[in-house]
Amino acid sequence: MALDPSTMLTITIALALAAALYLAIEWQTARESPLLFWSAGFALISIGCTLALLRNSGLLLVGIWFANGLLITAHWLFLLGVARFTEARLSRAWYLIFVAWAAMLLLPEGPAWSKVMLLVNSLLVALVTLRASQLLRPMGRSMGVGVVQLRYVLLGHGLFYIAKTIPVLVPGTLIDLAAFRGEIIQVSLVEGAMAIMLIALSMTGTVRYRREKRIERLAARDPLTAMYNRRALEARAPHLLLSASPARPGALLLIDIDNFKLVNDLHGHTAGDRLLVALGEMIRVGLPEGALAARLGGDEFVILLRNASPERIVALGDLLRQQFHDMAARTFATPQAVTLSIGASLFDQPPASLAALIEQGDVALYESKRGGRNSIRLVDRTVAATEQPTELNRSLR
Ligand code: GH3
Ligand code: MG
Repeated sequence: MALDPSTMLTITIALALAAALYLAIEWQTARESPLLFWSAGFALISIGCTLALLRNSGLLLVGIWFANGLLITAHWLFLLGVARFTEARLSRAWYLIFVAWAAMLLLPEGPAWSKVMLLVNSLLVALVTLRASQLLRPMGRSMGVGVVQLRYVLLGHGLFYIAKTIPVLVPGTLIDLAAFRGEIIQVSLVEGAMAIMLIALSMTGTVRYRREKRIERLAARDPLTAMYNRRALEARAPHLLLSASPARPGALLLIDIDNFKLVNDLHGHTAGDRLLVALGEMIRVGLPEGALAARLGGDEFVILLRNASPERIVALGDLLRQQFHDMAARTFATPQAVTLSIGASLFDQPPASLAALIEQGDVALYESKRGGRNSIRLVDRTVAATEQPTELNRSLR
């Protein structure tokens, strides 16, 4: 099938324009700067292709050199966008590409003119595109499927431009840029239209994926302490709860600050916030491997332990109580001590649900508060403890 270059160029103009608009609209919601670079790149492609149509009217400098210069600039903008996206620094040497292209103006006219133009243009586009693909490489896994797609689409596009140089190097191949004559020019026009769609779609996918991950991360965190919130804990707890067995019991520690309102009332809400952040940090630092911690809300925190024992629970609880008491006493003077009460539950069978387990912890926490605060109350629900309940169901201060 013979492809009419003018028709192909017109299709390419429309596609590039659509891609530029699509990415610009995406930017309006995502506000990710790479989208602007990419959108500008596609806008340049549509202008370049419009200028390329002028070759038919005999405007060869504008239609060939300038139009192809815009194509190189467009790919360069793609590279800049990728560098922004990956937060990579690009060497200033990349500007030399434009110097190389400007030097092509000095190319003497002759039978090899079209071939040299096509060769240099293809190499420059390939260089820029392959570098962009390479920048996406180390991020492959962590950034998900969107990045992998864009990386491979750019790699394929870059390799195609390398392949474009082969017919140029084969003696006797017909290449006439002015008249769009030569197989490679026709194939290139088809590849261009396809590449626009694939590149634009994977660019959008790349940014969307990152945005979704960011939103997911934010939604899982308590904004003040950056700890997991209740929803995130609910999503992650089942795995830990189900692993509980008589050989490896699990435990929950429900922690509530005593007299926290005094800090808010006497030293201000910001001081209270600072105390919550400090407690969050203490929990994070003292958290054993494989454990989970979250802020349930207000001044209430929770820790889920695997492979727990009464001794480990009490050791962790006492360490937190001690550290928190010292820090609070040093930082904020209050008529009553600002301390921690902890209700803990040890279990060797997966509990019915996290909510049920928290309820058990709540009962123990209430006992701890009722017993005078600054204490840990452990309820041992393992089979071993049921046989000797008086030994372990006690308040440890
Ligand atoms: P108790 O000894 O019985 O635990 O009493 P408490 O003074 O610690 O107060 P309580 O646990 O009943 O209530 C927690 C308070 O924490 C209520 C609310 O004013 C305060 N609070 C909740 N969220 C925040 C927050 O994000 N920042 C600050 N500064 N205060 C908060
Ligand atoms: Mg409290």
